[in-house]
Amino acid sequence: MANQDTQWIIIDSRVFDLSSFASLHPGGQAVLLDPEIAGQDATERFFELHRSEVLHRYARLQIGIIEGEEPQIKSHVPGALSAVPYAEPTWLSPGYHSPYYKEVFHLSSILQNLLCENKIVEDALSGKKPICLAVTEAFAGSDVQGLRCKATRTKEGWIVNGTKKWITNAMWAHYFVVACKAESGEIVILVVERGEGVQTKPIRTAYSSSSAGTAFVTFDSVRVPPENQLGAGHPGLNIILANFNHERWVLTAATIGGQRLIFEECLKWATQRKVFGKPLSSQPVIRQKLAAMISRVESCQSWIENITFQMCTMSAKEQARHLAGQMSLLKMHATRASQATAADAVQIFGGRGITQTGMGRFIEHYHRTLLIDAVGGGAEDVLADLGIRQAIRIFSSSSIVI
Ligand SMILES: Cc1cc2nc3c(=O)[nH]c(=O)nc-3n(C[C@H](O)[C@H](O)[C@H](O)COP(=O)(O)OP(=O)(O)OC[C@H]3O[C@@H](n4cnc5c(N)ncnc54)[C@H](O)[C@@H]3O)c2cc1C
Repeated sequence: MANQDTQWIIIDSRVFDLSSFASLHPGGQAVLLDPEIAGQDATERFFELHRSEVLHRYARLQIGIIEGEEPQIKSHVPGALSAVPYAEPTWLSPGYHSPYYKEVFHLSSILQNLLCENKIVEDALSGKKPICLAVTEAFAGSDVQGLRCKATRTKEGWIVNGTKKWITNAMWAHYFVVACKAESGEIVILVVERGEGVQTKPIRTAYSSSSAGTAFVTFDSVRVPPENQLGAGHPGLNIILANFNHERWVLTAATIGGQRLIFEECLKWATQRKVFGKPLSSQPVIRQKLAAMISRVESCQSWIENITFQMCTMSAKEQARHLAGQMSLLKMHATRASQATAADAVQIFGGRGITQTGMGRFIEHYHRTLLIDAVGGGAEDVLADLGIRQAIRIFSSSSIVI
């Protein structure tokens, strides 16, 4: 049924009355009055231009269902595993086996043990008091040894003076894990509590929405009790370096997850979108891009699962010797892979891939923000160099010749 006052359409066996909505339709009223749409089954045309969530948002406009028919379109249930091939790693996909994931770990009991150990850990892990890691300064990013934030030892503990830049979460943080230079020139790691002398100012970056809380932090004669020094008696630089392996692991895992989400979006879009009368997926060049995306993400996945297994098996000392280089090279590989995948995704989505709303909004967001992983936790070029320098060091001590 369709005229200026009454506009019904069918989408996936469901009947919608758009009469009250037509004048608000972002794509204009005229398209709804198109004889191929108005009063017709518009399922195919609808999904060429809309994400399935639009149907949920306007569920109130549904007035009925075609007798004897069942809706066929399945949209993703938040939190559920994806049924799209390669959207999940094999260890989460039915029918596959894993050499690594065999046991169910009881994370809650592990956390429980940690929580009992230390008040700050309890506050941070329970989410009561957010914490952040403050290493980078305007003066020193890649060159950690060059940091200038000063820690002066006193009878009562430490006094901290200095600044930190681009600290994620700092706007909301109650605790700051701060890398400082002692008067001896050694690096010390102090947990500074927000209070007198601590100030945070927001920094806007391409990546940080207001939720990331990225900030410039200033410490002016901030008193820190001696028990807030991490790893007292051990070189602070080693503590930072040990943390880097884990930080890079987390960033890499997130990067891999991001690539899978983008692949999933692209596969759905390539089968949904029609150009020149055929689905995009019928174009060989599009299939090549999808194949390259899968190859990249699966190579990252296999490498990270291997490294994760080594991390669970090696001592801290062994990890420092054998894994720092591997982890650096993997992070570099993963972030370069994600950039290639973002560029391919923009090509697959066309104009929508660089538009902040609508079908391609995740692609646009990904493409705009993904470089944080290529810089944070160690820039790609720095990590590549670190990985090779470590390999050369190990090789040089082996006396092997060609
Ligand atoms: C949004 C955001 C969030 C961040 N969050 C945090 C945080 O929570 N905590 C924290 O401590 N830091 C954080 N950082 C800082 C981040 O870790 C640093 O930006 C990063 O380590 C690089 O340091 P830099 O920006 O000072 O670059 P620089 O050290 O000035 O280097 C600039 C570029 O030069 C090149 N370069 C430098 N040295 C070498 C080398 N030896 N070989 C080859 N190339 C080299 C690299 O390409 C590098 O990207 C964040 C940064 C951003 C942008």
